[in-house]
Amino acid sequence: MIHVCIRCELKYTSDYPRAGLCPRCWAEENQINLGKLARGLIDMVEMLEADLVECQRAAARAGLSPDLKKRLLMLAHPDKHGGSPLATRVFQELRGMQ
Ligand SMILES: [Zn+2]
Repeated sequence: MIHVCIRCELKYTSDYPRAGLCPRCWAEENQINLGKLARGLIDMVEMLEADLVECQRAAARAGLSPDLKKRLLMLAHPDKHGGSPLATRVFQELRGMQ
C-alpha cells in the first residue's frame, strides 16, 4: 500500500502503519540509527552464514545423514539380494553406523 509521509511528504510503501511516517522519519522520530541497525543486521547475517558453514562441515564429519542411511539400508536389505551374505554384512554394518 502506498502512503505519503506526513513529515517529509515522501511516498513510500508499507503494509505496517507507522503513524503516517516513512521509514526514515519513523526511525528519526524513534531515535533509531538506521546505519547502526543495518551494520548490526549485516554482522548478524555474517555470523549466521559462518554458523551454517560450520554446521555443514560438522554434518560432513559426522558421516551419513539419517536420510542417506535410511536409503542405503533399503538398498542393501538382504531380502532384496536373495539373502546374500555380502548384503547381510553390509546391512548390519550400516545399521551399526551412527
Ligand atoms: Zn518521511
